[in-house]
Amino acid sequence: MLTVDDGWESNEANIVEIAAKYEVPVAIFVSTQPVEEGTFWWSYFNLWTTGSSSKGIEALKKVPNCERLAVVNKIKKRYTLTREAMTIEQVYKISLSSVVTIGGHTHSHPVLTNCEERQVYQELNISKRKLESWINKEVAYFAYPNGNYGTREVQALKDSGYKLAFSNVPQYLTRQKLIHVFELPRIGLLEGASLAENICRMVGVWHPTINNIKKLFTNSSSPSSNAVDHKIEKANIGILEK
Ligand SMILES: [Zn+2]
Repeated sequence: MLTVDDGWESNEANIVEIAAKYEVPVAIFVSTQPVEEGTFWWSYFNLWTTGSSSKGIEALKKVPNCERLAVVNKIKKRYTLTREAMTIEQVYKISLSSVVTIGGHTHSHPVLTNCEERQVYQELNISKRKLESWINKEVAYFAYPNGNYGTREVQALKDSGYKLAFSNVPQYLTRQKLIHVFELPRIGLLEGASLAENICRMVGVWHPTINNIKKLFTNSSSPSSNAVDHKIEKANIGILEK
């Protein structure tokens, strides 16, 4: 089974049509605010930093959600982007395919673990209600934005009527793993990665190898990645204040 996150406009031609042709089931986890507005928040950030600061985006994923929103909302006012997310009509159209299941992915695609509890429930409820009204079907499945979750997010999903959720933990989905239906693992493939890297990811050798390499660097005398991220975070937020 394939799962795809966010709800990109190109998913219809690149994934749904091919999945339908080969009868491969595909779950598409859609964030509802990008569908309504046309764009994803990180695209504004990419444009602002002319695509040179993927680490800046990673830093923004680590600050409290209200701080991320303050930065992104300031940048949003400066740019107009062309649509990159599906339209509501597209979400409805692909939901009619026998191979497609539409799932939730929050409303505004925050990192849920950076949100206040009230925001977590809002994000889950708004997106579920909107998706269900767009496709006239129950939306019971979910994928955590950025893969971040804890016991609070699992409880909020249960309280909001979801029945199953995917994490980004790169492991095979075994019978044993099915016991924890709100923490289902999945192996991610990257659009920008080489075919060789994606094959390594699929067969399960990518992450163990990369983790060992990371350990080598962590043990060296270079500053910790957290310290680096913190500096980038401060630098990016500082630039905005100019
Ligand atoms: Zn996502």
